[in-house]
Amino acid sequence: MDEFELIKTYFSDWEIASPYTVLGIGDDCAIFDLPKGEVCAVSTDTFLEGTHFFSHTDPYSVGHKALAVNVSDLAAMGARPLGFTLSLSIPKFDRVYLERLSQGMKALAEKCQIPLLGGDTVKGPLSITITVFGSVVLGHEFRRSLAKAGDHIMVSGALGGASIIVEKRYLEKAPKVEFWETKSSLDLPNPRIDLVVFLKKLKVRCAMDISDGLLGDLGHILETSHKKAELYWENIPKAVEVKDLPFEEQARHVLSGGDDYELLFTLSEESFLEYKKLKNSQSLEIPELYEIGKILNFDDALADICLFRDGKSVDISKIHGYSHF
Ligand code: ADP
Ligand code: MG
Repeated sequence: MDEFELIKTYFSDWEIASPYTVLGIGDDCAIFDLPKGEVCAVSTDTFLEGTHFFSHTDPYSVGHKALAVNVSDLAAMGARPLGFTLSLSIPKFDRVYLERLSQGMKALAEKCQIPLLGGDTVKGPLSITITVFGSVVLGHEFRRSLAKAGDHIMVSGALGGASIIVEKRYLEKAPKVEFWETKSSLDLPNPRIDLVVFLKKLKVRCAMDISDGLLGDLGHILETSHKKAELYWENIPKAVEVKDLPFEEQARHVLSGGDDYELLFTLSEESFLEYKKLKNSQSLEIPELYEIGKILNFDDALADICLFRDGKSVDISKIHGYSHF
């Protein structure tokens, strides 16, 4: 199979129609339009075997997740998905592998209605680079630097579930199966693009996605916003997989485990009360959001993040965020 046959077989004709796609796969460039009055938001992420996923990960999950982490960045920016490109480096043109990988990616692309606009295909170590394009009304984008003192710190879902699976897989040195069983929290993360419209209604201005762990990622918001924060342990939604663990272990997964791809954002007091009111209306369409802490004014005397458990401050200095290097 040559490159062109491969592209034609697995990556063309996904039939995700977008009114903004002017020209898709097949020419030297793709062309897309922007919704009137909006600007383009761009993000790229590389997904490397051995670094970002284990060799024993089902290729369906590899395809899903490579796209999911990128779409998650669009959600974290408050952007509407417009399209993506795929740069694929694969050691050999393995039909079974490519079929599973493209199926996983296509299923998520359909769910998020994001068309594949083009890409590049080379032989080499297994690696997937995706660039996503989205659009947003300037001034309505979510920025890490816009947290205000007094804001409520919110997350969109349970944390720690992906981290505990990563740990189990690390310990399993020589798996007996070709591919591990696909576990939803680690292998099939759900990018929270579904929340963007609702968060805009709540006038969210500061958000990011949790890819490297709550403490580390909240740290980025605090640093760029020049603020401090307090967190309430009891309020943090925890994945069922970690609920029965002792506190120290639970804290390690929930506070510094990565890969959950939930959204972390802040709400002003006014928006927070508005959310409570909507939630109390019992409407089923109102998503579950969790208040986990407060943004504080910068104060040298305070730790960057203060965690309270049973009303007492807990030392979290030994729990670090995931670091890439
Ligand atoms: P060029 O020589 O101009 O780089 P290519 O031969 O690499 O073009 O690709 C031909 C067409 O197929 C282009 O439109 C390109 O965007 C698309 N393409 C290549 N690889 C992929 C891929 N993995 N997924 C989707 N589209 C691809
Ligand atoms: Mg090329």
